[in-house]
Amino acid sequence: MAEQGVAQVWRRIRTIYNILGNRCTTCNTYYFPPRPVCPTCRRKGKLEDYQFKGLGKIYSYTIVRQAPEDFQKQIPYVIAQVELDEGTRLTAQIVNVNPEDVEIGMRVRACFRKIKAFGSGGVIVYGYKFEPTMHVTGHDE
Ligand code: ZN
Repeated sequence: MAEQGVAQVWRRIRTIYNILGNRCTTCNTYYFPPRPVCPTCRRKGKLEDYQFKGLGKIYSYTIVRQAPEDFQKQIPYVIAQVELDEGTRLTAQIVNVNPEDVEIGMRVRACFRKIKAFGSGGVIVYGYKFEPTMHVTGHDE
């Protein structure tokens, strides 16, 4: 399901650049990427476009220490599941922070970057990345 989601996102570059999703007004659930049908309400659901505010917190994360050639300059880097304030989650790189300082629950905000595709290996760089909302000073400072 995750891979299918990525494929859908990739076809909707404009959508992800703005973190445009949608929202079911019947059950008040937010979706990203946008869904054609609310899986909970089905035919009773009413979907309307919604632009996410781009604020959330880190739900889980991985520090990537080994990467394909095109990403070697960036390692180590952090890939996280970000839980947006609206309640939906997405996967994004966390930037402007020392990977060792990343914590679950850390507040983050979206910062937009150019979309690039590297090589033919299917490595996707999302149009958005996230950064901490507060400057991280390190340990116990
Ligand atoms: Zn619904």
